[in-house]
Amino acid sequence: MTQRKPVRLGARRDHDRVVYPEVIFFLCDLFLKTKVNPNYPSPPTYFRVTTAILGGGLSGLTLARLLHERGDDVIVLEAEQNPGGLCRSIQEDGFTFDIGGSHIIFSRDAEVLAFMRRMIAGNEERNNRNTRIFYKNRYVKYPFENGLADLPPDDRFFCINEFVKAQIAFETGSVPHPSNFREWIYFTFGKGIADCYMVPYNEKIWKYPTDRMSHHWVEGRVPRPPIEDVIKSAIGIPTEGYTHQSVFSYPAQGGIEALIHAIGAPVKGRIRTGFCVRSIKKSGNCFLISDGTEIIEADRCICTLPVQHFIACLDNVPATVQQACRALVYNSLVCVAVGIRGNVPDISWLYVPELSLGRTNRISFPSNYSSQTAPEGCSSVLAEITHQPGDEVSVMTDAELSEHVTVMLEKMGLISRDSVIMTRIWRQPFAYVVYDLEYQKNIDIIRNYCSTVGIPLVGRFARFEYLNMDGCIRSAMDFVSMYPRTP
Ligand SMILES: Cc1cc2nc3c(=O)[nH]c(=O)nc-3n(C[C@H](O)[C@H](O)[C@H](O)COP(=O)(O)OP(=O)(O)OC[C@H]3O[C@@H](n4cnc5c(N)ncnc54)[C@H](O)[C@@H]3O)c2cc1C
Repeated sequence: MTQRKPVRLGARRDHDRVVYPEVIFFLCDLFLKTKVNPNYPSPPTYFRVTTAILGGGLSGLTLARLLHERGDDVIVLEAEQNPGGLCRSIQEDGFTFDIGGSHIIFSRDAEVLAFMRRMIAGNEERNNRNTRIFYKNRYVKYPFENGLADLPPDDRFFCINEFVKAQIAFETGSVPHPSNFREWIYFTFGKGIADCYMVPYNEKIWKYPTDRMSHHWVEGRVPRPPIEDVIKSAIGIPTEGYTHQSVFSYPAQGGIEALIHAIGAPVKGRIRTGFCVRSIKKSGNCFLISDGTEIIEADRCICTLPVQHFIACLDNVPATVQQACRALVYNSLVCVAVGIRGNVPDISWLYVPELSLGRTNRISFPSNYSSQTAPEGCSSVLAEITHQPGDEVSVMTDAELSEHVTVMLEKMGLISRDSVIMTRIWRQPFAYVVYDLEYQKNIDIIRNYCSTVGIPLVGRFARFEYLNMDGCIRSAMDFVSMYPRTP
């Protein structure tokens, strides 16, 4: 019997690794047969790389770009056929839709905002936000506390009177500090704004009782509105809230995915699509990452996958960590895109708190962000429905979802059924982190364990934090600035 001759895959600093030729032929063959994506021609099968980034959403691509810019050898491993994660867009029949829900570019972080705007320079539309809340058949200005003049008089009185009472209670210290999200809403806005809008809307989007949610994440994100502004808004003097968002950017062409392409451009040849990470093993000083058919060896590894997927890839995870991971709460999302002939109102997006109108929590009008996202004479609507994994929405067919949204849009007087040219449905399993009261305990257990694995977590679902695009980019920037350079 002839002796098999191993092939040495480059000298290693710490140890030598050998692979048999037939394994290489098998893997190359498999790779050529299964991994072809014309938009993202895969780099040659790398059996060994310096830094593997798991997940090719915004976080993964930003990390890859920043590490590449400073000279690191990176590869991005992405399960889907196209990178972008929640920031993917689809162009069909002349319409462009963001398939992970409507995305706009804004930030309080000047450096990150400048970075995002630089990325889409030459392809940027600037928009003034005109956002509304659909309340009792009225279009109430957003945020609700800046739109009280649009309410029926009784509701307007209820909201302003209760807001003043809450403000006095806050200033005199006569109410205890809130211990959950529901209490925080009443504490911050008073019973009127809470009952009319904040509680119904939040329970609709989170699909979770607000008194079983933590409020740590809203402190700072949603400020207590100044009393002068609330009084002015109630008597009809215009005021603005969330001013960091009152002007926003959007790519003129290509939807939000244009931002992804721009960020990922310098590392395009290093993005490996169709590689669903299924197992990660430590071997000496490196990691062996496999999709079940192929193994990639990396000196270093950074994870941007949902932490649930990451934990499932590891061996011998302690039961307490697995339990903490199962206990994390998150929402999935269905997006229903509707292309119509004719116009839509000049609104950026619309919140829909009322349950009687159906399951949709938010509607956006992408053709108002950029006229190039719809054919001449046409407009677009994107309805978002959050839901819990495995619930009744997750089993609705595409046809049922289209019908559900069409009925709502007609009821609201936004479209007529005859004007609909196309509808499309997309489903995102991981859309929103829900901060339940057990969140901090569970995430601490998981992060403590992950820190022993030696693979840092970056991004919305890897950190399991409510990060917008700017938060993901900021985390990637901060991470890279602290991450040691490869020798
Ligand atoms: C409805 C909605 C609207 C939003 N609107 C805005 C907005 O207007 N402005 C804003 O700034 N932000 C917005 N965001 C937030 C924004 O989408 C996120 O902050 C950002 O996209 C998160 O990027 P990420 O890379 O961390 O995660 P993801 O986009 O979730 O990327 C993770 C990637 O990992 C891949 N992956 C998963 N499992 C595996 C596996 N096993 N192997 C390999 N790859 C895998 C996924 O396919 C995905 O590409 C919105 C989010 C939602 C849900």
